[in-house]
Amino acid sequence: MNTKKDSIHRRRSRSWRLLAPIGIVICLFLAACTESPQKTTEVSTVKPSSEKTAVQTTTTPSKQNVVLIVIDSLRYDHVVGQRNQEPIMPKLQRFASKSWMYQRATTQATWTKPAVVSLFTSLYPAVHNTLYGVTVNLGMEQQPSVDGVPPNIPLMAEYLKEHGYTTIGIQTNANLNETSGINRGFDEYILKSYPYGDAHEATDLALDHISVSKTPFFLYLHYMDPHHPYKPPESYHHIFGEPPQLSDTDQELIRNFTMGYYLDKVFFQLGLKSSRQFGDISENGREYLKYMYAAESRYTDDEMERLLNWLEKNAPETTIIITADHGEEFWEHGSVGHSKTVYEELAHVPLLIRFPGKTPRIISRDVELIDILPTLAEHLRLPSHEHWQGRSLLSDPPMTHEPRPIFVETRGSLPTANLFLTAVRLEDYKLIVNRNTGDKTLYYLGKTGGETTPLSDEEKERQLYELLMKHFEDNGKHPLAGSTPTRTTLDDTAIQQLKSIGYLQ
Ligand SMILES: [Zn+2]
Repeated sequence: MNTKKDSIHRRRSRSWRLLAPIGIVICLFLAACTESPQKTTEVSTVKPSSEKTAVQTTTTPSKQNVVLIVIDSLRYDHVVGQRNQEPIMPKLQRFASKSWMYQRATTQATWTKPAVVSLFTSLYPAVHNTLYGVTVNLGMEQQPSVDGVPPNIPLMAEYLKEHGYTTIGIQTNANLNETSGINRGFDEYILKSYPYGDAHEATDLALDHISVSKTPFFLYLHYMDPHHPYKPPESYHHIFGEPPQLSDTDQELIRNFTMGYYLDKVFFQLGLKSSRQFGDISENGREYLKYMYAAESRYTDDEMERLLNWLEKNAPETTIIITADHGEEFWEHGSVGHSKTVYEELAHVPLLIRFPGKTPRIISRDVELIDILPTLAEHLRLPSHEHWQGRSLLSDPPMTHEPRPIFVETRGSLPTANLFLTAVRLEDYKLIVNRNTGDKTLYYLGKTGGETTPLSDEEKERQLYELLMKHFEDNGKHPLAGSTPTRTTLDDTAIQQLKSIGYLQ
């Protein structure tokens, strides 16, 4: 049972402060801040006869353990940032000092399922086609059903199992239950749906399993705590000083945030409701939610440290990847949560990789989450697959690369929302295209790193639009394009689990 308490505090207000400029905090901890290319294992490029495998290694696989930690809804600025002059995630900052820290990593979708499937397949959403959560909602005349990964599309756990790994998945997001198909390839896949399974329980489960597992093991651990509802344990309610004081109205709205306020606001914004049932949360109430989101991040930081310490002591030769499926918005563009836009507060995610034996570094070039699987393959000296759309970050030389277009999209979690936003970013220019209406908006991200004022620059807009159209054209020609997702009717348990995190009304 969840031990979190929904406690509301009447205290003076503090502002949302994420003051540390990107990279500065991490640099304080890093012994080596460098971008010089690392010498990497040589890999032959001879194509074998097998259709599935494109590149064979000429060396022996390393058999290192692999741990992949996904922290749901964790903004990049929380990894490097502060609140009330306190680092939000000090343990993760210490981990960064031993890692390759990517300052500009982008997810390929801004809600959980398509984002994690992209990570697990090295495919863009337009190819893996695993896009939607529940297919019906308002009224609930039918049982809702959900999309799962097409059976012909291989997944990371299957790949590692095929190469001798014991595969363990600890999951706390109900969107990634067995109907999602993401469990394919895991020897054990355990769902403790949040908020009933939080970071403490997930860490305990992970430790219970890896401490008795055969090696090499692959552990995928998905934390949910920064995802709404933002209700950290009571002991974290003052972790950054006193939280903002709430009015009675805000207290009521926040008490019913996920199943009341949030769904009401989102459905209205998406045109699924003609009027709103609840009022808006005040500026002060918003600050309170930002505080509690930061406190959830700190709670996750503390719990994750138990796992990182265990690995350091008992399995130091473990490759550890820490990332997020997407960020979280807090009214930067009029709303809260995720999945409805492709702005940077959702697209820009943390990515840290600790490669045993490799010198830590900070990397400022653009990367995508679909790069993780090819990078892992090269690092472990395993064969890569020709259908992967990401690139290995070990063999992609940082000092000579051309500016790389970066892609992100969202179609929401409900097909009935009729939402289809896509974006391409090339260095600091970003073009957002509404594929339903054809509307285009160009931004220069500049110092803030976010989308503020639209930019008028016809030449740049044309360049980026061509890149985006080429991206969709290439995806359409991909051998796995057009794969059909599975469609599973949800049972009552899954329906209750999805309701508690705001995916069903
Ligand atoms: Zn998510």
